[in-house]
Parts: sequence; C-alpha cells; structure tokens
Amino acid sequence: MSEIRYDLITGKRVIIATERGKRPYDFNITHEEKKNNNTCPFCPGNEEMTPPTLVEIKDEKGNWLVRGFENKFAAVNRDLKSFEVPSLYKAEYGYGVAEVIVESPEHDVTFGSLSLGQMQKVFMAIIERYKKIAQDDKIKYIQVFKNFGARGGASLEHGHWQIIAISFVPDVVEKEVTGTQEYIKKKGKCPYCEIIKYEKEEGKRIIGENENFIVIAPYASQYPYESWILPKEHQERFEELKEENIANLTEILKPLIEKYEREFNFPPYNIVIHTLPISDIRNYHWHIEIAPRLAVAAGFELGTGVYINPVSPELAASVLKIE
Ligand SMILES: [Zn+2]
Ligand SMILES: [Zn+2]
Ligand SMILES: [Zn+2]
Repeated sequence: MSEIRYDLITGKRVIIATERGKRPYDFNITHEEKKNNNTCPFCPGNEEMTPPTLVEIKDEKGNWLVRGFENKFAAVNRDLKSFEVPSLYKAEYGYGVAEVIVESPEHDVTFGSLSLGQMQKVFMAIIERYKKIAQDDKIKYIQVFKNFGARGGASLEHGHWQIIAISFVPDVVEKEVTGTQEYIKKKGKCPYCEIIKYEKEEGKRIIGENENFIVIAPYASQYPYESWILPKEHQERFEELKEENIANLTEILKPLIEKYEREFNFPPYNIVIHTLPISDIRNYHWHIEIAPRLAVAAGFELGTGVYINPVSPELAASVLKIE
C-alpha cells in the first residue's frame, strides 16, 4: 500500500509506503553473512528470490551480465486500491512502477571498477526499461538513480540501479523545467547550454570533457564535491541516447566514479538522471547529477531547505579533475 499525501499548507508531496519497511535484507544481515551463505538475491543462482526477469543482457555462454526485475518492496505500485482520506486532507493512491537493474553478476565489484562495456550494458538495460515503462500513460515521470552506500569500510552491497516511475512530475524536476522555460523567455537561450559555454571559457569548474560530454562542479553546488555530467549538444531526453553516445558517456563516467571511489575511499553517493518528463513538450537539457554524501544534512538544512556547502565548487573541480 502506498499513498501520495499532500502537506495541507505547502502542497508538498510525500509518499507513504509501508511496504518498504518490510524489506528483509536490510535488517540484521551483514554483508559477510549474505555473501558466505549466498543469500544475496542479486547474485546469479538466486534469481528465484526476486520477481521475474524483465530485462537481461547475456554473454555468449548465456549467463546474464545485467539483469532487471520489479522491486519487490516498492515505494509505488500498479494495483490501484482505494483508501480513506481524512476530510481535512488531500491524498491519492501511489501509482507507479519500481524496478531494479543489477549492474553486474559479481557481488563485490564497485560501479567505478566495471568495464566500459559492462557500464554500457547497464545503460542499455535502463533505457530499454525506461521506454517500456513510459508507454503507461498514467506515468508522468521516471526517475533513474543509483544509491551506493558503503557500510563500514569494505562492505559493499551488490551494485544496482533503480527506476521509480510515478504519476506526477516531482517538484525538483518541475522547478528545473520551469526555470529553463523562464530563462529561454528572457535570454532566448537554453541555460544549460549557456552554462557549458561559460564554464568552458572560464575553466575553473571543469572536471573533465570528451567528445560529447562535459563534467563540471556546478557553480551553486549544494553538496561538497557535487558534479554534473551534461551532453554538450542540446539534448532533451536521456532515453534518446544512441549507442555510440552511451559509449562516450561511460568513457567519462568511469574515470569520474573511480576518482570519487579513490579520493574519498568509497564514499556513499547518489547518481540521479534528470530528463524531460514523459510527453512533456517543453524545452530541457538532460543531465546526470552526482553527489557524494560526505556531509550530513542537519538542522539548518532541515529548517530552511538551504544547504551549507563547506567546499567551494572551484576546489572540488580541481580535486576531481579527470586528465
Ligand atoms: Zn550479490
Ligand atoms: Zn541546452
Ligand atoms: Zn537536475
């Protein structure tokens, strides 16, 4: 059961998802136990512990290299159930799709140490599922993301990506898309294209660059050592990436992730992909945002929504620089 509840005063949405609290393998099982008893549901051989396969990329022997399936303990799901909403408030059913993409058959490999070919397969599987999920006309936005949390040093969870598709456009994305339209109205140019042009001239916040992509430490980074990867050509949708561009993307993503892993000793981090909402015809410039979670958001951030970043993006760029 999952509900989208609205804050009566601000209209801010929250998903109340009690299923998620039941996730078994987050509790009381250590990484070592999981690995030694082979109870990891993402490892080859344990496929029956997960819902059926939805996407699979195999090697020539028929073993899967990347595998995707529904998230058993989802924040949202498709079976519509009615529920009671107290008369004072507004809520709706948390309709949506949640899936997992396991990025490698190997339990103990980090994203940064995947081969370029393997990383490309991960993106191909994500895009295949994205396009499929987007056919559901109740879905308005699909968030693709990766959470990586190294619990106590070398303990690594089996690497995976997540796809959560929801029936509304979330505030963060809506704000970016609206902001893009407003900037275009005023200046006649895409603000993301403008950022790329400006950062290339100034050079201070560039982390790396190749044929099709640029990585920068954003001028107003919320998080220490935050980075953005942008396609250099104006491109609205991530899901329209062609195979050769996926290759080019991984050629810059891999050294960037390796840099984070090395520089900060496998820090917890999040990767999010921002793309234009489904069937939205407004202007946008898709991008990837990466935030290592080195600092904990505390009282001030909680109280104000304003982040205090102790690391200047200019320093972050020089530390993260990819040669
Ligand atoms: Zn595993
Ligand atoms: Zn643009
Ligand atoms: Zn964004």
